[in-house]
Amino acid sequence: MSTRVLVVEDEPPIRELLRLHLSLAGFDVTEAGDGTRALALARSQHFDLIVLDVMLPGIDGITVCRAVRVEGANVQTPILMVTARDTESDTVIGLESGADDYLAKPFGMRELMARVSALLRRAARAGEPADAGVRSVHSGDLVIDVERRLASVRGEPLDLTKQEFDLLHLLAARPGIVFSREALLAKVWGGDTYVTERTVDTVVSRLRRKIERDAQDPELILTAWGVGYKFADVD
Ligand code: CA
Repeated sequence: MSTRVLVVEDEPPIRELLRLHLSLAGFDVTEAGDGTRALALARSQHFDLIVLDVMLPGIDGITVCRAVRVEGANVQTPILMVTARDTESDTVIGLESGADDYLAKPFGMRELMARVSALLRRAARAGEPADAGVRSVHSGDLVIDVERRLASVRGEPLDLTKQEFDLLHLLAARPGIVFSREALLAKVWGGDTYVTERTVDTVVSRLRRKIERDAQDPELILTAWGVGYKFADVD
């Protein structure tokens, strides 16, 4: 069975280009030119990946993304959001709404295909990486034993606080995926109102001193400028 991709894009030339490249790569491509059609398709059929433009006539991509994440056959489907505006707030809103990655227009097809492959690879490999059932995370030099809450880097055991461990686990379980500071706060600190986004930066700095060869030139926990952090994609 071939991999099914839903392409949601209102501009016909871009949609056609996406369809062409994805088809050539062997994907079974379904197209939608607006948010209403996209939602109808996502409600009735399962897709392995959704490429979703943000700026759409009628129902916008953010709303589509949120709706897809709430119910239906594509709650877990990787979503690559495509935004025309490469601004911090748009990107954060996109990631908060449940997208797994984002790509700013204009983008090259090579870049797009690389992101698509990475998302599909991760989905196939891990399913639900940060959740129950995953006992260990191996990512490059890092090994995390989730049940025992132990971690080591380059064979050396790490002495981590609860927050450091949780943050590292969250990032390392989804290499290459950007997490906004807001998302990290929500996931690692829960609803604790006394911590701020600055706290995330502080814990990341501490983690880097413990796990990086050179904390000033990190190779594992990378900064996504203006957005947040991601774990290096070692594949
Ligand atoms: Ca558009």
